[in-house]
Amino acid sequence: MDVPTLNLQKQYESMRKEIDRALQEVLDNSSFVLGDQVRSFERSFAEYCGSEHCVGVNSGTAALTLIYRALGLGEGDEVITTPFTFIATVEPILQVGATPVFADIDDSTYTLDPHRVEQQITPQTRAIVAVHLYGHPAECKPLRELADEHDLHPIEDAAQAHGARYRDRRVGSLGDAAAFSFYPGKNLGAYGDAGGVTTDDEALAETVRKLRDHGREDKYSHSVLGYNERMDGFQGAVLDVKLNHLDEENRGRRSNAEYYNQHLRDAPVKTPDVADHVQHVFHQYVVRVPRRDEVFEALREADIGAGVHYPVPLHLQPSLRPLGYEEGDFPVAETAAGEVLSLPIFADLSRSQLDYVCDRLTGVLEESSPVRA
Ligand SMILES: *Cc1c(COP(=O)(O)O)cnc(C)c1O
Repeated sequence: MDVPTLNLQKQYESMRKEIDRALQEVLDNSSFVLGDQVRSFERSFAEYCGSEHCVGVNSGTAALTLIYRALGLGEGDEVITTPFTFIATVEPILQVGATPVFADIDDSTYTLDPHRVEQQITPQTRAIVAVHLYGHPAECKPLRELADEHDLHPIEDAAQAHGARYRDRRVGSLGDAAAFSFYPGKNLGAYGDAGGVTTDDEALAETVRKLRDHGREDKYSHSVLGYNERMDGFQGAVLDVKLNHLDEENRGRRSNAEYYNQHLRDAPVKTPDVADHVQHVFHQYVVRVPRRDEVFEALREADIGAGVHYPVPLHLQPSLRPLGYEEGDFPVAETAAGEVLSLPIFADLSRSQLDYVCDRLTGVLEESSPVRA
């Protein structure tokens, strides 16, 4: 038995006709960059998120960069975010000249702890970037209240949470702006790099639209210094088709998570907590185990596509050492980094694959536990 991390071929097979037709349309119209398919996807995705605007760009990292630029963040500005995320949340903060300031996470949801965020606010703070890690929405209501009180921009990094809900809203409509990644392995994935910005703020959407295309007002007039970060037509076409399957995909992930929860109940692992006012979309299904590295290796040897997200929190990454953080600064994130283990969770997993993962994980934990006297 072999349980991959993802099976994108199988997913393509299940929608081959629709995808092929959409790609053929791009070829027939030569709408290779932006164009009708991208516009159509932007409209559909904004509506899906319950947001006024969506601007298609060419990665999640670009989406974050253009949001930070559009908000005018730069030299002397501080942006509070989590140290327990993919580095792309933070790289663009530094690249626009601002300073990331970390706040520790909540131990049960792995998302920003609003109390810790509050402690990090200074007169230089301009924004809070909440990451909906693993598909579990961050605590957006208290974060929004803090932002309002201190006149800060609440921003969502929704790269792992397409379709997730927080109270009565979908992610992407919870802050001043949200960044999505459509990297192929995300819950809504393109067939190459792609990303998007959602917002209710028309002026911000307009600025992001200009920034993604060299600051263009029209063909020969460039009002601001911009970038080439446009979404390409093939990606828009694929995403427009796959958006129709997203809820079904997320239901499959949730049902697999439920299956794992049931079948790992008696194993010495901590299964994921889900806050009762959210709907999780399980981009990752993350358990906590003792002797994580050993267990991870044993699962890989059993041909199980397990993963670790993330083994080193950002404040301890060599590239971010100039920020001056040390081991011990964010103990909740550091402990999590040593214990988290992601199990395969994509929607097309079979029962026998799920059983195999549960069986191997339980077996490995029994073998690796110390002999009791
Ligand atoms: C994937 C990801 C990104 C970056 O998206 P890309 O499309 O790879 O640039 C940013 N933040 C988080 C939390 C991610 O998981």
